[in-house]
Amino acid sequence: MDAHVVIASIDDVGTDTIALELETPDGFSAEPGQFIKLTGTVDDEEYSRFYTLSSPNTDETFETTIEIDHEEGGPFSAYLAALEPGDEIEMSGPYGSDHYEGEPRVVVIAGGPGIGPAVGIGERALADGNEAAIVYRDEELAHRARLETLADRGATVRLLEDGTTDLADAVDDVVTDDPEEQVFVYGFASFIEDVEDALEAIGSSTDGAKIENFG
Ligand SMILES: Cc1cc2nc3c(=O)[nH]c(=O)nc-3n(C[C@H](O)[C@H](O)[C@H](O)COP(=O)(O)OP(=O)(O)OC[C@H]3O[C@@H](n4cnc5c(N)ncnc54)[C@H](O)[C@@H]3O)c2cc1C
Repeated sequence: MDAHVVIASIDDVGTDTIALELETPDGFSAEPGQFIKLTGTVDDEEYSRFYTLSSPNTDETFETTIEIDHEEGGPFSAYLAALEPGDEIEMSGPYGSDHYEGEPRVVVIAGGPGIGPAVGIGERALADGNEAAIVYRDEELAHRARLETLADRGATVRLLEDGTTDLADAVDDVVTDDPEEQVFVYGFASFIEDVEDALEAIGSSTDGAKIENFG
C-alpha cells in the first residue's frame, strides 16, 4: 500500500543509529524482516530508500532502524535522522519474502543496520514460544538494551564489536543445521559475503537461508 505516515518517535539507539517509529496506517501489516520504501525530497531531489522492520509486529506503530554512514552513505538517511515526531513521510510496502514465518528456531546473522530485523525477529520468535539466536557484527553496537533483554529472556546473543571475534566462530556456535532451524542474514553486500565465507568455513552454506542484501 501507499500511505503518508506520521512519525511517532525517533530515538538514538547507538552511535549514528536511530529507531524511527511510525504510526501504523489503517490496513497495513507486515512481518519482521519485511521492508518498506520511504520517499522524501532533499535539496529539491526526490529519494526513495528501503528500510526493514525492526519491531516484532505492526500493531498501532512499527519501527525501522537506520544507520547513518557519514563516509559512504548519501543524504537520505541523514534526512530521516533530522525528522521529528509529528512529521509525515511517504511510505509504500510491505515488500520482501525473506521474513519471519513462525519458524521453531531462528538464527539471525546481522551486520550494521541488519541489527534492526535481528531484534524484531528475535523478539517475535520468543513471544511465539520459539528459540532465537543472534550474531551481530558492527564497529559500534546498537540496540544494546533490547539485546540484553533478549539474552535475559533466553536468546543466544553473540556480539562481535570491532572485528575482534571471528565471525565463523560465532556462527559455528549458533548454527546447528537442524531442519527446524531457519537462518536469516541481513546487512550490506560486503557483510553478506563475509557470512557466506563463514558458513562455508564451518561446512554449512547459505542454501535455504533467508538473505536480505541492503546494497
Ligand atoms: C531491501 C533493503 C533493506 C534495507 N534495510 C535497511 C535498514 O533496515 N536500515 C538501514 O539503515 N538501511 C537499510 N537499507 C539501506 C537503505 O535503503 C539506504 O541505502 C541507506 O539508508 C543509505 O541511504 P543514503 O541515501 O543515505 O545513501 P545511499 O546513497 O543509498 O548509499 C550509498 C551506498 O553507501 C553505502 N552505505 C550506506 N549506508 C551504509 C551503512 N550504514 N553501512 C554500510 N554501507 C552503507 C552502501 O554501499 C550504499 O549502497 C536497506 C536496503 C535494501 C535494498
